[in-house]
Amino acid sequence: MPTRVPVIPAGRRLRIAVHKFSSCDGCQLAFLNLGEDLLRLAREVDIVHFAEAGPVDPEAEVDVAFIEGSAAHPGDVPRLRGIRERSRFLVTIGACATAGGLQALRNAADAPAWLAAVYPSPAAIEELDDSTPISAHVRVDFQLWGCPVTGRQVLATVGSLLAGVHPADGGDKVCLECKRRQNVCVLVSRGLPCLGPVTRTGCGALCPAYGRDCYGCFGPSDLPGTDALARRFEGLGLVPGAVARQFAGVNNAAPPFHEAARRARGDAGDD
Ligand code: SF4
Ligand code: SF4
Repeated sequence: MPTRVPVIPAGRRLRIAVHKFSSCDGCQLAFLNLGEDLLRLAREVDIVHFAEAGPVDPEAEVDVAFIEGSAAHPGDVPRLRGIRERSRFLVTIGACATAGGLQALRNAADAPAWLAAVYPSPAAIEELDDSTPISAHVRVDFQLWGCPVTGRQVLATVGSLLAGVHPADGGDKVCLECKRRQNVCVLVSRGLPCLGPVTRTGCGALCPAYGRDCYGCFGPSDLPGTDALARRFEGLGLVPGAVARQFAGVNNAAPPFHEAARRARGDAGDD
């Protein structure tokens, strides 16, 4: 049953901002790639800040702030707090904003050593040692998972808010979508280490539809059975390090995947 969003009355013309933090811009492209739907959306809402699309007003007060990217730079946290204060409803979009992203792999590593290995002048780069999700710093009202998110998710979220109801996002597993599409299971038929049994729906089981295994880009599903899947991967012949790497992808810092990778490596404590 949809719940009311008391802070945004139904029928209101929404003021929207799209903010970027540490990310590849792919989730912002989910907006831009809406094509004609984006033009229709622009008739229903005012997009007051979206630097990649044109409007620039980062200090604007808005009804809905979409945030792409993780907090990874020294100035990110104060900037986030300001956005939170100026926004009625805050939505994180994508793996970076929602779980820290691929760049969170450095959280368990020697980040300064990585910088020194990659850049000739690492001292010129201002970077936090950790990449963290937006929810680690400010209250988040709704999260959209995906790497990247899809235009359909974005439209559904804005549509719900226009109607005055809280957006919803399924927590089912990719396997269910696979069955609905009548895909041949790549885990069962080809022994590929597919993360579909523990990954949330939203992509339409895209990878298995093209004969490859899911690598978990939509993040952990509700109640992910990561222990059982790790044992299944071992049964496929994966050594513990390979099992850990399966869970250490774009959503490596999402707690269920982080814990599954840690257990597969046999770590006694947290990284
Ligand atoms: S291919 Fe992957 S997502 Fe599809 S049913 Fe098999 S395990 Fe699940
Ligand atoms: S099948 Fe898995 S890896 Fe592929 S798009 Fe869907 S969630 Fe992402």
